[in-house]
Amino acid sequence: MLKVENLHVNVSDREILRGVDLAINDGELHVVMGPNGSGKSTLALTIAGHPRYTVTEGRIFFDGEDITEAKPEERVRKGIFLSFQHPVEVEGVKVINFLQRVLKNLRGIDEIEAYDMIFKAVEELGFDSSILSRELNVGFSGGERKKLEMLQAYLVKPRLLILDEPDSGVDVDSLKVIAGVIARLHSEGTGILLITHYGRILEYLNPQRVHVLKEGRLVASGGMELVRLIEEKGFAAVGENGAAVK
Ligand code: ADP
Ligand code: MG
Ligand code: MG
Repeated sequence: MLKVENLHVNVSDREILRGVDLAINDGELHVVMGPNGSGKSTLALTIAGHPRYTVTEGRIFFDGEDITEAKPEERVRKGIFLSFQHPVEVEGVKVINFLQRVLKNLRGIDEIEAYDMIFKAVEELGFDSSILSRELNVGFSGGERKKLEMLQAYLVKPRLLILDEPDSGVDVDSLKVIAGVIARLHSEGTGILLITHYGRILEYLNPQRVHVLKEGRLVASGGMELVRLIEEKGFAAVGENGAAVK
């Protein structure tokens, strides 16, 4: 479904990604871990087509189609959905109306049907429906923001969901809820690229593959044993070509 080939990306004329290769098949859950500043958000935003990130070399394919130069909206239409690390606050827009608009734009669902879908989704996920009548992200706690993002993803049902640190700044209870939605989407067939720098959320998930990004390169790919190695010894323990550093 997603194929990233030898991806080199510049931000403000500085090379941040230095030759990333990544392939995610339909419905697979892949995890990218890495220290702060290694380029994780750059990878997520580049796949989503953010204009600040310039691809200087390499290609991005989605369903075999070259989308390296495609506009962000085109990628969204193809089913690529990025959940932001820092969502914006919008005063005067209620969550319910925002979600209705999202469903209209992305799935062509009319307002009335969307209304029912949204309430049903809130119930299915065990969320408190009072969130729907609040203003978009205004005064939301970290956990509430993340829950809203997950609700949005759950409604959109993208082909590929990119989550940039959905576990940052949330308490254990919210973490479980967020992991639950990810697991549910995964079981329904959504492909997921999950970016995190903690292993904790992975206790609730069953990833097909774990990758380690350091200084703009994927230095290791493997299974949960990589997560355990990082938890025990830190990112310093994973060296070039995935060799465990003694
Ligand atoms: P991570 O998400 O792994 O913490 P980022 O992709 O956010 O890493 O950042 C990687 C590097 O790119 C950092 O050194 C960061 O300072 C730099 N960078 C990211 N975005 C920008 C930007 N918009 N302008 C300038 N530098 C940036
Ligand atoms: Mg290269
Ligand atoms: Mg980041």
